[in-house]
Amino acid sequence: MSSDVTGVFGRNAFNEATMRECLPKNVFKSLKKTLDGEQPLDPATADVIANAMKDWAIAKGATHFCHWFQPMTGLTAEKHDAFISPTRDGRTILEFSGKELTQGEPDASSFPSGGLRATFEARGYTAWDCTSPVFVKEDGKNITLYIPSAFCSYMGEALDKKTPLLRSMDALSRQAVRVLRALGNTTVKRVIATMGPEQEYFLVDQSFCAKRLDLVLAGRTLFGAKPPRGQELEDHYFGSLHERVASFMNEVNNELWKLGVTAKTQHNEVAPAQYELAPVFSTVNVAADHNQLTMDTLQKVARRHGFVCLLHEKPFAGVNGSGKHNNWSMATDEGVNLLDPGDTPHDNMVFLVMLCAVVRAVDKYATLLRASVANAGNDHRLGANEAPPAIVSVFLGEQLADIFEQLAKGVAMSSKRGGTLKLGVSTLPHLPKDCTDRNRTSPFAFTGNKFEFRMVGSSQSISGPAFVLNTMVADVLSEIADELEKTGDVTAAVQKVLQDIAVRHARIVFNGDNYCEEWTAEAARRGLPNIRSCVEALKTIPSQENFALFAKHGVLSEHELRARTEILFEVYSRQINVEALAMLSMARRQILPACCEYSARLAQAVAAVSAAGVAADTHKAMLQRVCDLIAALQSRIEALDEARIRAGETTGHEQQAQSYRDDVTPAMQALRAAADELETIVDARLWPLPTYAEMLFMR
Ligand code: ADP
Ligand code: MG
Repeated sequence: MSSDVTGVFGRNAFNEATMRECLPKNVFKSLKKTLDGEQPLDPATADVIANAMKDWAIAKGATHFCHWFQPMTGLTAEKHDAFISPTRDGRTILEFSGKELTQGEPDASSFPSGGLRATFEARGYTAWDCTSPVFVKEDGKNITLYIPSAFCSYMGEALDKKTPLLRSMDALSRQAVRVLRALGNTTVKRVIATMGPEQEYFLVDQSFCAKRLDLVLAGRTLFGAKPPRGQELEDHYFGSLHERVASFMNEVNNELWKLGVTAKTQHNEVAPAQYELAPVFSTVNVAADHNQLTMDTLQKVARRHGFVCLLHEKPFAGVNGSGKHNNWSMATDEGVNLLDPGDTPHDNMVFLVMLCAVVRAVDKYATLLRASVANAGNDHRLGANEAPPAIVSVFLGEQLADIFEQLAKGVAMSSKRGGTLKLGVSTLPHLPKDCTDRNRTSPFAFTGNKFEFRMVGSSQSISGPAFVLNTMVADVLSEIADELEKTGDVTAAVQKVLQDIAVRHARIVFNGDNYCEEWTAEAARRGLPNIRSCVEALKTIPSQENFALFAKHGVLSEHELRARTEILFEVYSRQINVEALAMLSMARRQILPACCEYSARLAQAVAAVSAAGVAADTHKAMLQRVCDLIAALQSRIEALDEARIRAGETTGHEQQAQSYRDDVTPAMQALRAAADELETIVDARLWPLPTYAEMLFMR
């Protein structure tokens, strides 16, 4: 692969540098104003931009363009159109207008709308999001110009993940600027939410996946006995890369770099066959688009290397699942990171206000934040001693926790220093010690100059958790701005605000081990919510408090929020239903027949051994055990099928999801238990499914 990284990087992205090159000066200037949120794009400018984009894309071999959007399925959607425009004389010219660039009209009727769109109103619109660069994507021989877009209904209601994210970024900017103005900053124009999402994933050999319907249809193993070796040797994390995996990563990076995605960090993760990729952070909106491209690229490139990339939150029971770590901060348009504590955080007023605002927001809206990461996959992860628990808390680290306590008592007067670490070897450098240690168990950790939200699921779009976080923080900043704007003595008012937050929200701060049982008890004493399942979490979304929050900041109307919740319930039910059906098919058509075959062979052995005049007690005992388990398997198959049918017939999205959770998932677990036990005793030559040991260790 090319070693010319700087030449490759951004080659297929119509980024600012390319625009400056390709666009007339005045057009570029006018677009820049739109990008900075100062003026809408006028049609004449759009026409010029579209034409330049088309020429640029065609020079790269593109034949088509598409509006690329993110419907509520959490995936991306695209409909390709060729640039061709036939002429009267039977030829064609290649055209792309400003209107085609800025607006699309896909049929919306097959995307989930949660009742926002009646079936007869099929019309939906996509609108170009000019803040995220357009790019050219090569899929096999097909080369297409991709236009990142928002997606809404005929009535203008958001049907996607991007629209509320963009709205929340505006809200956060508005409120943060108010606070900064009140604190004496007269120059800042905008505040931008930034995000660096770390992505975890598994790689499994394609030949194994092909033999497992569960991996093909549900992205996770629904059966599988514990292998003789799991992750207990702790030798995979940061271990040296397997050559085949390293080649895969090299190609992933190259593909991403071409698209202008800043893939930066890669390493082995904790579980065998598990890996991570992290980009350099960008604006949340671009980060969300780039994370979608990353997931897509991981999956496509994996196929080229004979792997399947699993993005599910829990592909394998008994080893760690996968998440995303949403590293998040706020920066001014002048380039200042508002969560950078500086050397003496105790007297950095802007930092303290921003920090305390986030702490209050997380406590006030803990339930909502929890709900933003609720999906079927994450139910296997949160609270399972590998990912943060389902209890939301904030890790501040020693230095800030100390300052936070000082604030509660009055004014913060000092900052604990990090100092230096001496390694005791003269050839090794002395390392400056960070002021905060890392806490790998916290769901929401301050990590030096940003917060890291670790509850997000690996398959999720980061937009949901991000727009919730932006809006929550915007809301608290608006309260603070209200206080500061009406006072004559800002310093005294700030002090009061900070003290008030430090006193009232001390309960959300927890610097200890989030995985231990004592924390669960302690959190309950503190009155922190512990919401263990997706269904329970989703139920908390439609509340007056949440309606008011999203409406006040113009992020979602009550109608839109209700619709979204319905869709999330529906997605949950569908996902569990697919899993149940895949299980039934595998149990009936693969596992049961193999076990019957094995019992028949044992029965023959019993007869043969007895006929030879030898006691066949052991053979008989084995046969009995297999037959008992077959009986259990069969009855659990029937029980699961009945539960699934009952759940399917339940009316109401919420009630149906509840039934899938309460009736179907326990029946799935019971069926799995019987099958997994059979796997440990049935002749390996008859077992129809690749085993955990094969999938996790053979590559
Ligand atoms: P670790 O795994 O040690 O937490 P990584 O280096 O894997 O750290 O990921 C850290 C992520 O945080 C990177 O994507 C990085 O770009 C991002 N990040 C750093 N600073 C900021 C910031 N100010 N805002 C948002 N994300 C940030
Ligand atoms: Mg991290």
